[in-house]
Amino acid sequence: MTNPLGERVVVIGAGQAGFETCAQLRALGHSGPIALVGAEAHRPYQRPPLSKAYLLGKMELDRLFFRPARYFEDERIDLHLSTTCTGIDRQARQLRLSDGATLGYEALVLATGARPIRLSEDIGGALSGVHYMRDLADADALASRITPGARVLVVGGGYIGLEAAAVCAGLGLRVVVVEAAPRILQRVASAETSAYFRQLHRARGVERRERTQLTRLLGEAGRLTGAELSDGSTISADIAIVGIGVRPNQELAQAAGLTVDDGIRVDARCRTGDPAIFAAGDCASFPHGDGHLRLESVGNAIDQAQVVARAIIGQEPTYDPRPWFWSDQFDTKLQIAGLSQGHDRVVARKGDGAAVSYWYYREGRLIAIDAMNDPRAYMVAKRMIERGSSPDPDSVADPATDLKGLLAAPAAT
Ligand code: FAD
Ligand code: NAP
Repeated sequence: MTNPLGERVVVIGAGQAGFETCAQLRALGHSGPIALVGAEAHRPYQRPPLSKAYLLGKMELDRLFFRPARYFEDERIDLHLSTTCTGIDRQARQLRLSDGATLGYEALVLATGARPIRLSEDIGGALSGVHYMRDLADADALASRITPGARVLVVGGGYIGLEAAAVCAGLGLRVVVVEAAPRILQRVASAETSAYFRQLHRARGVERRERTQLTRLLGEAGRLTGAELSDGSTISADIAIVGIGVRPNQELAQAAGLTVDDGIRVDARCRTGDPAIFAAGDCASFPHGDGHLRLESVGNAIDQAQVVARAIIGQEPTYDPRPWFWSDQFDTKLQIAGLSQGHDRVVARKGDGAAVSYWYYREGRLIAIDAMNDPRAYMVAKRMIERGSSPDPDSVADPATDLKGLLAAPAAT
């Protein structure tokens, strides 16, 4: 097979999107050389369990890896681990690597992900006991500090903060979550879903303070001892887990003269302004509506990687985002399909036992669902959102309605 750009593909970033790009290229029959350059020491692994089963001690390290080491040999994917790409020479189509080597490419994929926003040193960010959660090293460092009875301050009530809070509370630690916004999960979920998780955490003994910011961390002899909060209170803490959002790793692209603006700008084929360079995953900002959107999720990383692989082999795919997310907290599985922003109506549906789901409509059209312990509602709504059909809201709200019957609703015109 001959690719329009040439045979030599280099992927920078050995995370979800980087791995998926390589795997897809081989699955699609690309036979030329593939190099995968990753700053971390490990072969590609999945991040979601880091703040869930792995942190809880219920998942072995080996199960985190996408593939055994053998796979990369068999598929001739040349792994450059513990190696950072430090520069792109677009003219020469060459990369500079941290080990001093150079690497030529004909097609280049930037899958550099994102990094956590850090607390500055002047408010105590450098104290021992302050933890972040992005990679395996972070998860192992935090796991080694988790001892029953320890006092945990969670800064940020997003997914990272709440999942870590659930693990810690479940293991017998005393947890306080501090969230700057008026409600937890404000950036990623609706008010109804926030209320569900507020109640869940309260019932499991997690203390929560919304509309409250961390003012500064307190320490003695370089170790964390507590924190001052914006409501004037002071709390004691042995561990702080900071989950206050991420920033896209876009500096490499920016230095190479590519357009960046909260992410590396790509078109609907995930191609940057340079036809030989693509971007996928958390680092990529793609066209959406009248503007651009950057999503931070496994589903987005996989879908974009597939588009990139197909574009490299000369197909003409377009990225049609079908956002889906999930989160595990205590015994609740949250599944989200679609984007609920801009909804004008929410319909609650009670399922069997602890199952509940919120269906979001805009101008009569179903745009998203948040389902708690209700995989059936999630699957039905996801299919309807993807094909553009909208069930009657009153039927959704009626627990007697057979969910599968809703699939017969007409598609939107
Ligand atoms: P990453 O997986 O972050 O990979 C990027 C890689 O690039 C990193 O290994 C980085 O070291 C490397 N890199 C960066 N710059 C360079 C360079 N210059 N040279 C070489 N290598 C470089 N999403 C969900 O949908 N559901 C979940 O339940 C969920 N849980 C999560 C839990 C945790 C703890 C975390 C951290 C994330 C979670 N996510 C979840 C988000 C999801 O993991 C990310 O959206 C996904 O990993 C993005 O993939 P990516 O390839 O873009 O970035
Ligand atoms: P996030 O979703 O952006 O949430 C961070 C939260 O912290 C926001 O609500 C933010 O409020 C708040 N905050 C910011 N500064 C604060 C401060 N000084 N004090 C108190 N609260 C503060 O990011 P995250 O939870 O850190 O997650 C990081 C990444 O991991 C994301 O990409 C996320 O998608 C991913 N992840 C996903 C999952 C999942 O999908 N299940 C699980 C874990 C991680 P404001 O919005 O007001 O700033």
